[in-house]
Amino acid sequence: MHEMSLAQAVLQLIEDAAVKDQFSKVTTVWLEIGQLSGVEPEAMAFCFDAVTRDSVAGGARLEIVTLPGQGWCMACAKTLPLAEVFGPCPLCGDYQMQVTGGTEMRVKELEVE
Ligand SMILES: [Zn+2]
Repeated sequence: MHEMSLAQAVLQLIEDAAVKDQFSKVTTVWLEIGQLSGVEPEAMAFCFDAVTRDSVAGGARLEIVTLPGQGWCMACAKTLPLAEVFGPCPLCGDYQMQVTGGTEMRVKELEVE
């Protein structure tokens, strides 16, 4: 389950921010997860709870914001919504779409005390 190492990376980021911005408790974490990132939001939530238990983010609420997938279709010369990485163009059905968005995962915002 790669969500465990991703959750640890998120925690590392939060702990770095805690040192830099001098807060000792995080109450809410907004995490953006791209539709095409391969990250399962439910698995992520589970792992986040596990790795943050004894940290500044222990007991924090995790708000997952899903970002839609996007791809560029050469045939249509357009950026279009893309539901899966190797999915077809929703306009012409071509399978040559290049993924342009929705593969990222990042911490958008922290609510701290
Ligand atoms: Zn197309």
